[in-house]
Amino acid sequence: MYCYLPFRRLSNEMSPEIAQAVADSAADLTDPGGQLDIVWHGGEPLALGQRKFTALLAPFEQLRHAGRIQHSVQTNATLIDDEWCDLLARYQVRVGVSIDGPAALNTRRVDLRGRPAFDRIVRGIRRLRDHGIRFSVIAVVGTEGIEQPESLLDFLADLGPHTIGLNVEEMEGVNDQRCGIAQDQAERFWQRVLNWRRTHDGGPALRELDRLADYLYLARSGQRDEWCRYGLDPIPTVSVDGDVVLMSPELAGISDDAYGDFLAGNVRSQSISSMLAQAHRLRYVREFMTGLSRCQAECEFFDFCRGAQACNRYFENGSFATTETDYCRLTRQALITALHTSTKKEIAA
Ligand code: SF4
Repeated sequence: MYCYLPFRRLSNEMSPEIAQAVADSAADLTDPGGQLDIVWHGGEPLALGQRKFTALLAPFEQLRHAGRIQHSVQTNATLIDDEWCDLLARYQVRVGVSIDGPAALNTRRVDLRGRPAFDRIVRGIRRLRDHGIRFSVIAVVGTEGIEQPESLLDFLADLGPHTIGLNVEEMEGVNDQRCGIAQDQAERFWQRVLNWRRTHDGGPALRELDRLADYLYLARSGQRDEWCRYGLDPIPTVSVDGDVVLMSPELAGISDDAYGDFLAGNVRSQSISSMLAQAHRLRYVREFMTGLSRCQAECEFFDFCRGAQACNRYFENGSFATTETDYCRLTRQALITALHTSTKKEIAA
């Protein structure tokens, strides 16, 4: 287990009643024609077991059959067996697997007893492939991976995902140490990722590059409004007992003197849509909006970035009203400057 949430070693379980309340809220939140993504994550969601997990999915069935919601699960894949594959296929659950690369880069992904999870992750992925279940992978890129993007990407691509997501290591939740990756290191990393992409046509999609390509396409074709639509997502996150935090899942289970417990409400007594309608009353949401306004006014990368990532502002800077973070420097700014440098080199060649 390798996770940003506090208390992740506790085995609290969501009850079907909470799931029902979330489903009721989801019905409010989806427009006909729109689809809501219900993401099951935090700790290892498959540890719940198939019977209990099925009981949590049941309240959403009407909405799923109407095409108004789609389930996703973020898992380390170690528990995936034939029965899980059947369940995931039956409920059309999108699967994201967390794996940081080959065994040498994956040493921090361990089970609760501290045993390396690598072999079991790969075995679970093989099982998904045997069942023809599409999956994506998300890798946390640390100080070692940042220096070897080609071997990292070769390994991840060989696993057979449809998409690779690269999370340059950041400071959030229980991961409260600065990552030690410099911005110029990240820029070189993204340049090499761009080069890898150029020489690997037909391979899996790279999430970060696809996002950049979408932005460039919309900006060039005069559809910037479409891009701005992606901007702010309140990301309501429901904990096992129905408590809801906004803006960032990493705020679940955290409290401090300045912001209290970050709670927007509880689904047992209030719908998520009414929590969103009253979100402006929460200090951290108001501060985050101030931070976004400052990003828009001050940052040359805002047009692409849209100033997201509330949790990084809080965990790194201690306030949501701030702007720059390691996350945005290493993932948003370094990606843009890498593209700029690569393009200049190409033109000069
Ligand atoms: S790159 Fe950083 S400072 Fe710039 S808009 Fe994004 S979050 Fe704000």
